[in-house]
Amino acid sequence: MAKNIYFRQGVYGDRLHDSMRKALPKIDKVFPNRKQAVLVTSTFESSGHRADSFHYQHKAIDVKDTSNNAINELIFKDLKKALGNDYDVVWHKGSHFHCEYDPD
Ligand SMILES: [Zn+2]
Repeated sequence: MAKNIYFRQGVYGDRLHDSMRKALPKIDKVFPNRKQAVLVTSTFESSGHRADSFHYQHKAIDVKDTSNNAINELIFKDLKKALGNDYDVVWHKGSHFHCEYDPD
């Protein structure tokens, strides 16, 4: 597991699909680059995801955004670049970056 990534209490990374395990070290580089900690706020837990969400396939994680939107914009760009075309990144402003494995 990537060393700078923290999981919110009650959130676990041990069931993540390989695609997300591979994504973690990439996410791990983006945030510290911007001097921000990486806090995973959700993996597969049932709170607030759509029934067909990739979260339940262990192919999505949510990472907390920061209080600074200028930095969030940079992190958002960095995340999309770092993860590449096989992943989708959606920024829910004021909350989190949703990262999922969805190759097409
Ligand atoms: Zn999500």
